[in-house]
Amino acid sequence: MADPKGFLTHDRELPVRRPVDVRIQDWKEVYHDFPAAKLNQQAARCMDCGIPFCHNGCPLGNLIPEWNDLVYREDFQEAIERLHATNNFPEFTGRLCPAPCEAACVLGINSDPVAIKRVEVEIIDRAFAEGWVRPEPPAVKTGRRVAVVGSGPAGLAAAQQLTRAGHDVVVFERADAIGGLLRYGIPEFKMEKRHIDRRLEQMRAEGTEFRTSVNAGVDITAARLRAEFDAVVLAGGATQWRDLPVEGRELRGVYQAMEYLPPANRAASAGADSEINARGKHVVVIGGGDTGADCIGTAIRQGAASVTQLEIMPRPPASRAGSQPWPTFPTLFKMESAHEELADGGGDRVYAVSTLGFAGDAEGNVRALRLVEVEGPQNGFKPIPGTEREIPADLVTLSMGFTGPEKSVLLQELGVAYDKRGNMARDASYMTSVEGVFSAGDIGRGQSLIVWAIAEGRAAASRVDAFLTGETALPYPILPTARSLV
Ligand SMILES: Cc1cc2nc3c(=O)[nH]c(=O)nc-3n(C[C@H](O)[C@H](O)[C@H](O)COP(=O)(O)OP(=O)(O)OC[C@H]3O[C@@H](n4cnc5c(N)ncnc54)[C@H](O)[C@@H]3O)c2cc1C
Ligand code: SF4
Repeated sequence: MADPKGFLTHDRELPVRRPVDVRIQDWKEVYHDFPAAKLNQQAARCMDCGIPFCHNGCPLGNLIPEWNDLVYREDFQEAIERLHATNNFPEFTGRLCPAPCEAACVLGINSDPVAIKRVEVEIIDRAFAEGWVRPEPPAVKTGRRVAVVGSGPAGLAAAQQLTRAGHDVVVFERADAIGGLLRYGIPEFKMEKRHIDRRLEQMRAEGTEFRTSVNAGVDITAARLRAEFDAVVLAGGATQWRDLPVEGRELRGVYQAMEYLPPANRAASAGADSEINARGKHVVVIGGGDTGADCIGTAIRQGAASVTQLEIMPRPPASRAGSQPWPTFPTLFKMESAHEELADGGGDRVYAVSTLGFAGDAEGNVRALRLVEVEGPQNGFKPIPGTEREIPADLVTLSMGFTGPEKSVLLQELGVAYDKRGNMARDASYMTSVEGVFSAGDIGRGQSLIVWAIAEGRAAASRVDAFLTGETALPYPILPTARSLV
């Protein structure tokens, strides 16, 4: 513990967001740089607890007090060594993780937690800037071949670990670029895509091979995958979206979030207009989670006339409810950058409402949404009589989550089994019901978070390595059954 009084002398501080009216004119990340002196103070707030609960809060088991101390001492080179020891991609989690570690930080019991996520991203950004992130190719090759299907954080983590263990790894991705939801789900203003490209350079130099625009099961059959590779890792995500079967669902202008966001992200990267554009439209975002927030920020940058977000759950509390004590990961009212932009433009977040249907014009375009206020979940979201109303809606995005993996040709031909939630069934070694076929990330866990996907990718890689060689030195951070503390 470098500064025994750090937590008494410094308050929690985060970088300042660029002014709303400036940042909505571009797609760049929303934060200003964080001055070095402030970073030092934030790292100094870590109390180096005897039992660091943050380790358990982080699914990767990041060695948080160690790198806080190293940052305080300005030894960034050692800090990135310790950070990379548990996390392949801190540039992703440091920007995008909801930081369950901070919810579990001991300082958070009676004060604001350490700004762990900020320290994390500053370490890796500094390491890239200094040229310390170099390829780490294996010293010895095993001659074994592994196919990884899907290039989201789970597939990438598994691929990097297995390549470094000496296997020949090929990553298959059906999209035209690598990254999974990091590439085409999450908008540029939350994480600029250059961070993915920079990491892929390292992975290519280490020997991982990437094949894009290859839909496994269609462009390469399951039988060929099995014949050409000694093991297969399925990391195709939980891409089956939840729909809203109400009157008017078929109207033009009602899209799934993942129909709306990918073209918007592609267009933003190319500096072009998206084929589905919110300019001048009244936009309604159904769903109050991360995906909904991404739709809000995107629609605002496209020049929407108005944006309204609807959520069926009641508004969450601003601070921990008694039922979600420390160190659990609480459900809180959040003010993400997109929410700030929404409020600034006079938009609304409406809670405890349910969508009854959509009304259209003579050409089949959506023009309005009918909603009703509902009682809470304990009353089964019962509609409250007399609260029905209509709001203008020219563009609607459905951001209501995902129900699990698509039952694709690949999965059918491989003959893998599913668990009772419809996710891929696997044993403690991440192996599916088919010998030599493993799974990692949302495909087995269900819709989750980047940090869990990386942790699963790392853990699955260790089991694949043991399967192929009979032993492994790769880490196994989590069991497939591990869940966050809620
Ligand atoms: C809009 C949105 C915003 C989000 N924001 C956050 C956030 O801020 N923070 C956070 O922690 N989490 C966030 N999440 C969740 C997070 O992105 C996921 O939990 C994570 O990406 C899952 O990683 P994965 O590797 O399992 O799968 P994915 O990232 O979904 O990647 C799966 C990949 O597999 C490919 N694929 C599927 N089938 C095949 C096939 N047959 N052949 C070839 N390729 C195939 C898909 O094209 C896809 O690229 C968000 C999710 C969404 C939808
Ligand atoms: S990966 Fe997430 S949970 Fe782990 S230390 Fe970073 S911000 Fe915290």
